[in-house]
Amino acid sequence: MKRVGAHVSTAGGVFNAPVNARAIGAKAFALFTKNQKQWAAKPLTPQEIDLFRAHMETGGYRPQDVLPHDGYLINLGNPDDAAREKSLESFILEINRCRDLGLTCLNFHPGSHLKQMSVTDGLARIAQSINMALGATQGVMAVIENTAGQGSNLGHTFEQIAELIFQVEDKSRIGVCLDTCHAFTSGYDLRTPETYRATMNQFDRIIGLSYLKGMHLNDSNPELGSRVDRHESLGKGKLGLEPFRQIMNDPVLDEIPLILETIAPELWPEEIALLYGMVGVTG
Ligand SMILES: [Zn+2]
Ligand SMILES: [Zn+2]
Repeated sequence: MKRVGAHVSTAGGVFNAPVNARAIGAKAFALFTKNQKQWAAKPLTPQEIDLFRAHMETGGYRPQDVLPHDGYLINLGNPDDAAREKSLESFILEINRCRDLGLTCLNFHPGSHLKQMSVTDGLARIAQSINMALGATQGVMAVIENTAGQGSNLGHTFEQIAELIFQVEDKSRIGVCLDTCHAFTSGYDLRTPETYRATMNQFDRIIGLSYLKGMHLNDSNPELGSRVDRHESLGKGKLGLEPFRQIMNDPVLDEIPLILETIAPELWPEEIALLYGMVGVTG
C-alpha cells in the first residue's frame, strides 16, 4: 500500500508530529526533530520520547513511515574546515535524535561546494562527511535527497548521487529520497507516463531502485531544467497531476514514505485524499 503524508509541524514539541499527521489522514510523515534554523538543541527528555512513541502507536505509524529532515544550516561539503566540522557535529546530533525517537532514517541535502571547489572534490568531501557521521553513530540510515541544483548545491544529477553512494563505505546505511519538484527543475521530466517511466528507469540504471527509501511529492513552480527550487501545490504548477497518478500506481513505491512539502498546509488533507483517489486509476 502507499504511505502518503506531509512534512508536519512540531510546534509545542516533537511528540505533536504524529498527532498532526493523523489529523490530516497521513499514513506517513516528515518532521524536523529540532529547530531547523539552529545548530544545537536541548536533548530530548525521556518524557518527550515516551510521548512521541505513544503518539506513533496511536496513529498506527511504524518507524519506517517517518522521514525526518535535517536542519537548513548543515553543509557536509563546506570547503571551510571549521564550518564543515560544525555541520558534521550537528548532523551527528540529528542522527542521534532520530535514534532516540526510535526512528530509522534521516533525510538530508548533500551540500554545496560554494564555488570554492570542483564538483568532484565537493562530492568526495560530502562522502567523507557521511562516512564520518555513520562511523560515529548506529542504527539510522542517511537518506540523500536529490536537489534542484540551485546555486552550488550538489546532488542534482543521478550520477552525482550514485557517486556519493559509491564512496560511502556502509551501503546498508545509505538511501535516496527523490523529490519530484527538484527532479523536474534539475531536468528530469515526469509529466507523461512515458517521461515518468524514462526518469524512473534512469534512476534505476544509474542509482538503483533498491536505494529509494522515500519521495517528496511536490508540484513545481519553475520550468523543467530551470534549477530553481520552488514548490507548488499539486496540480497547480508545471508538473500537473499526471506524475502523481503515475507514482500512486507504481508498485515500486509501496510502503515507503511519500511526503508532501507543498506550499499550502491547509490543502494537505485534500491533497492526500486526491492522491489516494488516484490509486487504480490508470490509462
Ligand atoms: Zn524535498
Ligand atoms: Zn525543495
